[in-house]
Amino acid sequence: MSNIIGHTRGGTEWTPQFAVELDPKKCIGCGRCYKVCPRNVLDLVERGEDMIDEDNDYDDDEMMVMTIANAGDCIGCGSCGRVCPKGCYTYAAAEA
Ligand code: SF4
Ligand code: SF4
Repeated sequence: MSNIIGHTRGGTEWTPQFAVELDPKKCIGCGRCYKVCPRNVLDLVERGEDMIDEDNDYDDDEMMVMTIANAGDCIGCGSCGRVCPKGCYTYAAAEA
């Protein structure tokens, strides 16, 4: 089985790295990733009990958390992780 690959305009192959995981305990709900995602993959939701890191002192604004709501729409551009201040994202190539 081979990975999904893309091509640059110049014809060079590249392997998209898709957003496969977002650590809700690290996420502060800042929305930066949401703003840059070109495919509406992400959604801001209320932080559940299982999304709280006891060592993290969240303020009121941080009681929302980002989720990968539409994983199948991700194009693997990596923009979300580049703007995330907390290193929440994990990426992986996907099988074609
Ligand atoms: S990798 Fe790109 S398309 Fe996928 S969730 Fe992140 S910003 Fe959106
Ligand atoms: S950029 Fe990072 S910290 Fe901010 S909402 Fe997205 S995942 Fe959470």
